[in-house]
Amino acid sequence: MADKPPVALSPREALEQLAAALGCSPTSADLAAELDRRDDLAHLRQRFLLPTVADLPPSDLSLVDGSQDCIYFVGNSLGLQPKSTKKYLEEELEKWAKTGVHGHTQGSRPWAWAEENIEDLMANVVGAKPEEVALMNGLTVNLHLLLLSFYKPTATRHKILMEDNAFPSDHYAVESQIRLRGHDPKDSMLCLSPRPGEEMLRTEDILEVIEQQGDCIAVVMFSGVQYYTGQLFNMEAITRAGHKKGCYVGFDCAHAAGNVELKLHDWGVDFACWCSYKYVNSGAGGLAGAFIHEKHADVVRPALLGWWGHDLKTRFQMDHVMDLQPGVNGYRLSNQPVLLVCPLQASLEIFNMTSMEALRRKSILLTGYLEYLIQHYYTWDPSRPDKPHVTILTPSDPQQRGCQLSLSFSVPVSRVFQELERRGVVCDMRQPSVLRVAPVPLYNSFSDVHRFVELLGASLAASGQK
Ligand SMILES: *Cc1c(COP(=O)(O)O)cnc(C)c1O
Repeated sequence: MADKPPVALSPREALEQLAAALGCSPTSADLAAELDRRDDLAHLRQRFLLPTVADLPPSDLSLVDGSQDCIYFVGNSLGLQPKSTKKYLEEELEKWAKTGVHGHTQGSRPWAWAEENIEDLMANVVGAKPEEVALMNGLTVNLHLLLLSFYKPTATRHKILMEDNAFPSDHYAVESQIRLRGHDPKDSMLCLSPRPGEEMLRTEDILEVIEQQGDCIAVVMFSGVQYYTGQLFNMEAITRAGHKKGCYVGFDCAHAAGNVELKLHDWGVDFACWCSYKYVNSGAGGLAGAFIHEKHADVVRPALLGWWGHDLKTRFQMDHVMDLQPGVNGYRLSNQPVLLVCPLQASLEIFNMTSMEALRRKSILLTGYLEYLIQHYYTWDPSRPDKPHVTILTPSDPQQRGCQLSLSFSVPVSRVFQELERRGVVCDMRQPSVLRVAPVPLYNSFSDVHRFVELLGASLAASGQK
């Protein structure tokens, strides 16, 4: 008899089963402590610097103990600092001080090719081959460089399909690229909104627009994970649908890289870009990433050239004959900022102590636990209609979200945010009405989630008072 495949438990089932085995309530702090004991990634938290409550400017020490770790749920905006960052930076500053220009070729991180040592580490995080990834510039710059090659509108195929509520920088980038090519964003920017009364774009609706209008679409350009709602798009299905209609398909993976499992290569995605300061923890303005699938390596060429796109072996011969590196490496323009390579290396080494698959497994349970507790305590209770309540915008299907939950409240979001901040919680508020909370599997714990939910209760109560 063939074995039946094991049925994966939903986070709710897993939590209730474990609580029953322990003989405790699924809402008790004991369950959180046990989940942390069973977490084989828990040790990775020790590799990051976590602010204490007292370190944070808005903390009110009359409400909470300042000596404890803060609850850092804002890794979707700016990841924590890896402890080895400072050491790596000091090594390079020391090398500069002691050897000056010789640092270009000396030491463990020769400046002239420092970022090439970490491209394989980055490629593992986004599911790419090392030669498909370049680390350079900022995210929006890379998006422009990629669109200059992939957006080549013709009279009949001139549209870019994207989300209506895209991140502003992506919206501006696409708008300006369309103008640059002599088209009008009014005709060429196809922005997709959710159905009336809905918050999420349905995959079926995205696929249908591609099917119906694909012949006029030059580029399909979505985010991997939506920054506001936390929705994870079905990148594989979108890519397949776009290709069927002859479109290029690219993704902005700013909120997906280091958050969810990506298989940019296997899915056949044409191009992608991401920043590294969110889930990838490289510090504000860190070195961004770009991906071009190897199938385009010798076909799609950069529109703009610089000497860093030249083959390293002959780059410094300084003749005027371009020996362009294939694929995304040919897109590099300037010599790389080694001081930005250091923090990125520090973070990527931690990612490579585990795998995105293992991080994602923890993440599904960690965010499922947060959702479970919020639903348990703070959903609308018809018998107590005046009690402040919480609505979760983010899809409840773990396959349609990363670690972030976007919350809205029956009381003003700015009050809740302020009360949470006074209690040592770091998360962020986005206009018009959402609080984004992101328990990050690399350094957040189940006990963080449990403490957060308690503090959310206190914050809601304080916000509900006149
Ligand atoms: C964070 C983010 C950006 C920021 O762009 P930078 O060029 O790094 O300033 C752009 N797009 C998306 C989708 C983002 O999430």
